[in-house]
Amino acid sequence: MQKGNISVQTENIFPIIKKFLYSDHEIFLRELISNAVDATSKLKTLASKGEFKGELGDLTIDIILDKENKTLTIRDRGIGMTEAEVKKYLNQVAFSSAEDFVKKYKDDANIIGHFGLGFYSAFMVAEHVDVLTRSYKKSGKAQKWSCDGNPSFTLEATKKSERGTDIVLHIAEDSVEFLEQARIQTLLDKYCKFLPVEIRFGTKTETNYEGEGEDRKAVETQVDNIINNPTPAWKKKANKLKDEDYKAFYNELYPYSTPPLFWIHLDIDFPFDLTGILYFPKLNNSMEVQKNKIQLYSNQVYVTDDVSNIVPEFLTLLHGVIDSPDIPLNVSRSYLQSDANVKKITAYITKKVAEKLAKLFKKDRKNFEEKWGEIGVFAKYGMLSEEKFYDKGLKFALLKNLDEEFYTIEEYKEKIKANQTDKNDKLVVLYTNDKERHFSYIESAKSRGYDVLEVDKVIDNHFMQQLEQKMGDLTFVRVDSDTADNLVQKDEKMDSVLSDKDQEKVKSLFTESLGELKGGTIELKALSPDDHPVMITKPEFMRRMKEMQQMQGMNMGGDMPEYHNVVVNSNHPLIAEKLLKMRGEKKASFANYLHKLALLNQDMLKGEELSEFVKKSIEFMR
Ligand code: ADP
Repeated sequence: MQKGNISVQTENIFPIIKKFLYSDHEIFLRELISNAVDATSKLKTLASKGEFKGELGDLTIDIILDKENKTLTIRDRGIGMTEAEVKKYLNQVAFSSAEDFVKKYKDDANIIGHFGLGFYSAFMVAEHVDVLTRSYKKSGKAQKWSCDGNPSFTLEATKKSERGTDIVLHIAEDSVEFLEQARIQTLLDKYCKFLPVEIRFGTKTETNYEGEGEDRKAVETQVDNIINNPTPAWKKKANKLKDEDYKAFYNELYPYSTPPLFWIHLDIDFPFDLTGILYFPKLNNSMEVQKNKIQLYSNQVYVTDDVSNIVPEFLTLLHGVIDSPDIPLNVSRSYLQSDANVKKITAYITKKVAEKLAKLFKKDRKNFEEKWGEIGVFAKYGMLSEEKFYDKGLKFALLKNLDEEFYTIEEYKEKIKANQTDKNDKLVVLYTNDKERHFSYIESAKSRGYDVLEVDKVIDNHFMQQLEQKMGDLTFVRVDSDTADNLVQKDEKMDSVLSDKDQEKVKSLFTESLGELKGGTIELKALSPDDHPVMITKPEFMRRMKEMQQMQGMNMGGDMPEYHNVVVNSNHPLIAEKLLKMRGEKKASFANYLHKLALLNQDMLKGEELSEFVKKSIEFMR
């Protein structure tokens, strides 16, 4: 038997390995199984080149749990190691790479994949490691290397009939969790699901049904428990895959989920190597989008499900897999963003997504429109966050009006140009985010021949603002806004049925009886007799400010008051005829009543005011 010391160059790294990222001890399994996969792939390569002429045989990697003897073994039938190779690779190569890693790790705990610790990660969970190995080369004996986590090791010839390597971990007292079947199964599912060589973890019971009708019975058989799919869809060529294959793979990634809307197959080998499939999930509600569903792999080895800094923020809403050996893994997250390859990869993914959307739009607009409710969330989010995506998005981003018609932005501008250009030559886009609440305003806008868009409350607020800024020639105005009727002023302004003197009277009556209006104004307008007698409008700007505040959860010095203006329709019979003919106190109370009615129409009458209004109405009825 040979004894020796692993040349420790800096300081004893074993205690550091032991302590390394306490919660991430589990990655030892990925590291050791990746080595086994590498050893197997190398043998296949040698065989294909004719440098290995023997039988490849069954190359399945075995994970063997022996709870009684407290060991966990990773067994491969790969190239194995000769005596000289054990000395070179385990005592020098593996050790110095672990040493490098530990040095690096000590400065930055935020390392993306924790790759690099390699073989020595075994000492995070084992108090003692035996390596039994037999090289594919005919010469030489099988070797047994043993080390108990001190720099000293032993190496001796041993008996091992099969080619390949057994890594036997004698699990430490503080790591007995790794002797649990269920724990190992979970780790295999997480890290090894798509490794390119079959991995077996004991056997499992499979239930099959035999016979027909009453004779039908369940037959249980023990079968190999193969934990991985060595040829996942993303590694195949897109032209070899059907829709069903993509959907089946989605189900493999996220069992029991609703099928995705569509997907993008990524496949490029220059200037960087990247494969993957990104799915657009079906959203039930734009608010419950799940992030962190994209898994990052490196040559089919699972790295992480936190791909921030690799894919643009807005695309983290997508699901699926990205596999690239060109993403540096043992660097810190903050470094990633500045890495040249990562930058290119990010740009590539963004471009692919934009292209896919443009293609879907072109190919089947109807279908695209039907899915816009869901696609729109990504697309708008993307347009808001990425300049390049904004430019591409303009071709397919859609606006929907109350008649459920969809328009691209250019199409919509064309549609409303004639009728909705204001006195400053700006296009005025009317919208509502609450059809019920804005009902009467919508009616009134429609009666004037205006079109009204339907938008949502969250992302569209930002999106509309972005369009205003970028386009410069259009302005979005909510139907109940004070600027909404600026349009009317442009074309035929109605004549007032009241004389100037009477108009003054009405105005001062309202000013007196409504008192302080918390910042709002009272205005007399000659509208159609079919419009309401009194209407509430809100300053568009103030309202938006308030909405932004609420969205950001801010409440600067209490609630911002709800500013509103009162528009009195001097052409309405209740104003022009009834009110003017009234006497004394009745006038003020009637004006007040009409104001409250208008507030009620906007859902702005609350609490005591509302209760009093109801009482008053009942009195009126009497
Ligand atoms: P890395 O895999 O990054 O090179 P490791 O520390 O994991 O670093 O392993 C060091 C070396 O030990 C490997 O490069 C390989 O030559 C050898 N090795 C490790 N595990 C095996 C194995 N199961 N079969 C054959 N060789 C192995």
